[in-house]
Amino acid sequence: MDQFTFADMKKIKREVMGNTVPLELFRTIRLIGLYQALPANGKGTTMTVGRKIGTELGVNSVSELFELFKDMKIGIPEIIREDEMSMTVAVHDCFCAGLPVLEGKMVCDLEGAILEGALTKIRGKRVSVREVKCNVNGDEYCEYEVRF
Ligand SMILES: [Zn+2]
Repeated sequence: MDQFTFADMKKIKREVMGNTVPLELFRTIRLIGLYQALPANGKGTTMTVGRKIGTELGVNSVSELFELFKDMKIGIPEIIREDEMSMTVAVHDCFCAGLPVLEGKMVCDLEGAILEGALTKIRGKRVSVREVKCNVNGDEYCEYEVRF
């Protein structure tokens, strides 16, 4: 074994500190580390990272994927529109909720890429996911447009 799997990530043996880290640490890695430190807000890297995570999650259906999003406290996904070609997914209570509004900025691209990787694996063909709303942009919730 020379690579970690998502299953490995759940093997936690921290007697004092437990299995959680504060949201501000996650936000710092995501927004200061990835988003602000990398060129072009880390666009290409974030897509690569997110897709890889999405394919490794081991989920077999959209409902399993959405449950995992909730369990990992990324946010609460909800399908708000769906047809044969596409669907619109709102993510309520996203990790970014409460951050200062920076109009024109949408920062939840990693989460979209995770959805993209997982949905591509679930459906067995290329799915594309685009972030169309974000709390940080001043929207009422984060939202993704999924194309099958
Ligand atoms: Zn968000």
